[in-house]
Amino acid sequence: MDRILSPLHIAKDWSPASWQTKPALQQPTYPDTAALDCAVAELRQLPPLVASWEVLALKRKLADAADGRCFLLQGGDCAERFADCTASVIADRLKVLQQMSLVLAHGLKLPIVRVGRFAGQYAKPRSADTETRDGVTLPCYRGDIVNGSEFSAQAREPDPRRMIEGHTKSALTMNFVRALVDGGFADLHHPEYWDLAWGSHAPLQDEYRKMVQSIGESMRFMETLAGEPFDSYANVDFYTSHEVLLLNYDEAVTRQVPQHWGWFNLSTHLPWIGMRTAQLDGAHVEYCSGIRNPIGLKVGPGVTPDLLLRTIDALNPDNEAGRLTLITRMGAAKIEAELPQHLRAVKAEGKHVLWCCDPMHGNGETTPGGVKTRRFENIRAELEAAFDLHAACGTRLGGVHLELTGENVTECLGGARNLTEADLARAYKSTVDPRLNYEQSLEIAMAIVRKRRA
Ligand code: PEP
Ligand code: MN
Repeated sequence: MDRILSPLHIAKDWSPASWQTKPALQQPTYPDTAALDCAVAELRQLPPLVASWEVLALKRKLADAADGRCFLLQGGDCAERFADCTASVIADRLKVLQQMSLVLAHGLKLPIVRVGRFAGQYAKPRSADTETRDGVTLPCYRGDIVNGSEFSAQAREPDPRRMIEGHTKSALTMNFVRALVDGGFADLHHPEYWDLAWGSHAPLQDEYRKMVQSIGESMRFMETLAGEPFDSYANVDFYTSHEVLLLNYDEAVTRQVPQHWGWFNLSTHLPWIGMRTAQLDGAHVEYCSGIRNPIGLKVGPGVTPDLLLRTIDALNPDNEAGRLTLITRMGAAKIEAELPQHLRAVKAEGKHVLWCCDPMHGNGETTPGGVKTRRFENIRAELEAAFDLHAACGTRLGGVHLELTGENVTECLGGARNLTEADLARAYKSTVDPRLNYEQSLEIAMAIVRKRRA
């Protein structure tokens, strides 16, 4: 039996509901607990969104990424909106991830593991429980799975029925993603699927087109040699991920799978724990400690190596390969001071982890005009520094975690088109964190390749 299929050691008193005995941060207060119980009971009966063997297949791939045999690309919205559950938004998001993965696979000469922040990324951690405008104080917006973003008492009241709607919209998203992938959306025999919606004079267009052309030529050459169509590019997997935040929801979608010895969160392949809820004795770590999915853990400034090692032990007591992905998000200004201590400590203790860099969440800033943004140059600088620091420590950066969209938004500053503060007003759509747009996302993929080749 391989390491990943073997049963995980789980505390005797763990259950999908044992998180309820621990402090749970960032949870809404539902005014009607009977309605909450009713929604949870209904969710428990609904079919899951993913299968346990897919979850275990991803775990194996993450173990491979940790060993340098593939590279993880995780990306998508900061938070999905119910209103964005549309064919074009889903297809564009898939397209940008697929195109980035093509750039990365070609440049890094490695298979790419694609994980979307989608099909369930509906809950958001917030810095305050309430929001005050013009003297009126209401509960904060916690994501569409909890309440509405509109500033009215009715919209802001947490509604447990939204969990059912979130599950349904995740299922619709998954269904469409699977249909697109099965239908050959990613097949290089159909370059028309790959053509970019570049605006005129896109600075990187030529480089991208040349690369697609060169991949097409190599593929035709191999097909000529093999005497049959080469279809390994036709079948591409997309996995899903979301932040484990709203624990009533995640508990209700946790199912026992006897043939795989244990409990799985079957609403997503890769749940991750955010910075704000990563307390060692907290409810989110407790919940994740007992499920067999691979787990992501955000690691930010201020965490000590000792705390990180104890959290690793809580989440991965058997030191199972593929189980834990550490997603570091230090910020360009702090990464050199913060990251090396963790790399050294984790390496010295022989912990199996996949290191992944999130260059988004440590690089937020607010413009003088009050708009939340991120600078492309800081995002790239953090990524490049991460590669250098891993190289210096003898560890491996095996993936990236990005907030991006397939739409042509103007939310992050800079990039090849050099978006300025004045541009932000033009197409700023995010209600939460600013995302890389289509071109900026491909530019980051190209920057990763250049860095790895340097
Ligand atoms: C996020 O990934 O959207 C997020 C809130 O990140 P972090 O927990 O790292 O701040
Ligand atoms: Mn975010």
